[in-house]
Amino acid sequence: MKYNPFLNFCSVLDKAAAACGIAPEDYEVLKHPERELKVALPIIRDDGRLEVFEGYRVQHSSLRGPCKGGIRFHQDVNIDEVKALAAWMTFKCAIVNIPYGGGKGGVQVDPHALSASELEKLTRRYTAAILPLIGPQQDIPAPDVGTNAQSMDWLMDTYSMMHGYAVPGVATGKDIEVGGSLGRTEATGRGIMIITRLVCEAKGMKKARVAVQGAGNVGSISAKLIYERLGFDIVAISDVSGGVYKADGLDMSSVWEHLTAKKLLKDYSAPGVRHISNKELLLCDCDILIPAALENQITAEIASELKAGIVIEAANGPTSVDADSVLAGRGIDVYPDILANAGGVVVSYFEWAQNLQSLYWEEEDVNRMLDKVMVRAFRDVKAAADEYRVTLRLAAYITALKRLTRAAKLRGIFPR
Ligand code: NAD
Repeated sequence: MKYNPFLNFCSVLDKAAAACGIAPEDYEVLKHPERELKVALPIIRDDGRLEVFEGYRVQHSSLRGPCKGGIRFHQDVNIDEVKALAAWMTFKCAIVNIPYGGGKGGVQVDPHALSASELEKLTRRYTAAILPLIGPQQDIPAPDVGTNAQSMDWLMDTYSMMHGYAVPGVATGKDIEVGGSLGRTEATGRGIMIITRLVCEAKGMKKARVAVQGAGNVGSISAKLIYERLGFDIVAISDVSGGVYKADGLDMSSVWEHLTAKKLLKDYSAPGVRHISNKELLLCDCDILIPAALENQITAEIASELKAGIVIEAANGPTSVDADSVLAGRGIDVYPDILANAGGVVVSYFEWAQNLQSLYWEEEDVNRMLDKVMVRAFRDVKAAADEYRVTLRLAAYITALKRLTRAAKLRGIFPR
């Protein structure tokens, strides 16, 4: 059967609800996104041709506040993926207890095949197409795979032009000059570093050998901060072109320099460094594996051969449902995406709050507050795992589900 991440979400939801005794009618609504918009996006390519792209915006739930979630530009984007990503945002925001619901958007396009001016046209046309759904009190986009701060600057500008005044609070992950927050670019990777620290503290591990799949915003910054702040060895890192491995740890400052020059890892070389495939990266000899690329990377087959004892999910949905059972059976702890990678949305929330107040914070305050929120969420999820004797993924879902069903009960159903 074709991989359908939204159905996977629904099946984990059922398991979590059963484990903590929440009745089906109390969470049925969470299996149905509130709104799904499909848009056609014509642009004139640089060679004068007209091309029409397909895009989506899904608002999964606004039970706890405005919908919040990134925009993905990738050739494999489809409605089931966007629905799943939107639902995971609802749960992520509930776990870290910030006043947001969940949303997500995407355009089916390979952004690397477009020039900068074509990307700008596509981003602006997409913004215009989803305009009725977005706004600082409605639905607040952010970057995701294939989009970045520049994309959010264009989105914010397009929205502002339609309103006649600057509206920085319509998007987060913007550049600092147009209302971005200090610390936002690093926030998801910083959150992963914080979770890695908390996991190792809880297990009494002073050192760890870490492998990171994906070297984009999240993967590269996670690896850099784990190396710099925790002093751990990064034994492997990969991107779409393949990976690099060194048993006694890569020189992360030199890898970082290579990545910031926008070079692929297949072109990286240094003494003692071996080139490996992405499958080899997932199966390499390490203590902690951090998948930070795309969904469905750790399949049941990979899970049965994994050497890492701990998985910290930086990507959204990197582990299939089957793989999850295999990992649980093998006693491998999986710190789930909706907890581990929440640092990005937490600092997005800080950015939005700063935009609404027109009052900007110092970077050290942003980082301190992020640490506090991640520590609290980690403890809440661990406590649920102990209370219900379930995996950390189910514990994360339970933590969120309790907050969401409580909000639903308090708000009631309109009209009655
Ligand atoms: P990005 O586009 O910056 O980077 C993606 C990276 O993955 C690139 O290095 C790319 O080369 C690599 N990649 C793609 N296909 C691969 C493959 N098959 N094997 C190995 N590497 C591959 O994206 P990002 O913003 O870093 O997002 C990565 C993941 O983290 C996504 O799942 C995203 O939803 C999730 N996430 C991102 C944020 C954020 O703030 N950007 C927040 C939470 C979660």
